[in-house]
Amino acid sequence: MRAVVFESEGKLSLTERPDPEPGYKEILIETAAVGICGTDTHVFDGEFEGTVFPLVPGHEATGTIIALGEGVNDGVFDFHVGDHVAINPSTTCGECEFCLNGHQNLCRFWNGLGVVASDGASQERFVAPASNVYKLKPETDLFEAALIEPLACAIRGWDVLPRRLGDHVLVYGAGTMGLLMAQLAPRAGAASVTVVDLNEDRLQTAAEVGVEHRFTSADDAGREKWDVVIDCTGNIRAIEDGLTRVKPAGFFQDFGVAPADRTANYSPFRVYRDEISIVGTMAVLNSFGRAVEMFEAGAIRPTPMISHSFVLDDYAEALEMFRKGTGRKLQIRPNDTESRVLL
Ligand SMILES: [Zn+2]
Ligand SMILES: [Zn+2]
Repeated sequence: MRAVVFESEGKLSLTERPDPEPGYKEILIETAAVGICGTDTHVFDGEFEGTVFPLVPGHEATGTIIALGEGVNDGVFDFHVGDHVAINPSTTCGECEFCLNGHQNLCRFWNGLGVVASDGASQERFVAPASNVYKLKPETDLFEAALIEPLACAIRGWDVLPRRLGDHVLVYGAGTMGLLMAQLAPRAGAASVTVVDLNEDRLQTAAEVGVEHRFTSADDAGREKWDVVIDCTGNIRAIEDGLTRVKPAGFFQDFGVAPADRTANYSPFRVYRDEISIVGTMAVLNSFGRAVEMFEAGAIRPTPMISHSFVLDDYAEALEMFRKGTGRKLQIRPNDTESRVLL
């Protein structure tokens, strides 16, 4: 079978490999779709802490079970060949102080399939631990369901924010994460949701997923301050701007991934005087099962969010397109026959 391999920092190849074998309590999955996100570019550029090359990338995956390893169904699971599944890519040690205190997403030995040391899903077939595999309904669209992993991150994001009826929420960035955070906001009690993005095309997608207030600058929004401000850009200027727009007793969330070596300016006096909370959120924590359930219940509108699909041969092109910010969510579909423009 064929696999995309990140051989070393900045070096990618398409290689022929034997099929992976599922080990004890592991499942072999035929890949349907795997989303590309900023993490993949960080891994490729050697900027992701802990990545071990060579590595098959791809952590936002769905597929169909084609084989079960020994012992998979000995406990609570009931998996079968042919089941449609989504995969939580995070694995943790279960022994460090963060795992033992319920913060597995901060595990000292955190490992993500396709991110750190285990191969991901940008190959025709891949193996995942059974405890990371979530069964989908047969009628769930397996391509669109590759948004469940980012949705699980967004749900985790809302887990650390207040859920108050009537709050006004401002989101910076209309990329995948911004659109997911914005679509969840009404379910967290928001009376209004505003999204800002410099890119008009992305604001159009925000409209298509139901975001009512959309602007290229928060200056134009007709409101001075918001109860909850969420940065989904990682852009320092957006973060500095957002921090000035939080109401007293409000919350600011660093959701986007800022460059590790950059700092932002804010007024510590205002944070003190106005009791502003600044919170961070990292990946998925106990939110994957909820993401599956909410996705299948129609909590988000996936169709306008996925713009292109690529076969394995075109992986490098997909990564380049992602860097340029062209399109919406880009997916790799390793078992498809050709790359496609979907929107
Ligand atoms: Zn991702
Ligand atoms: Zn741990």
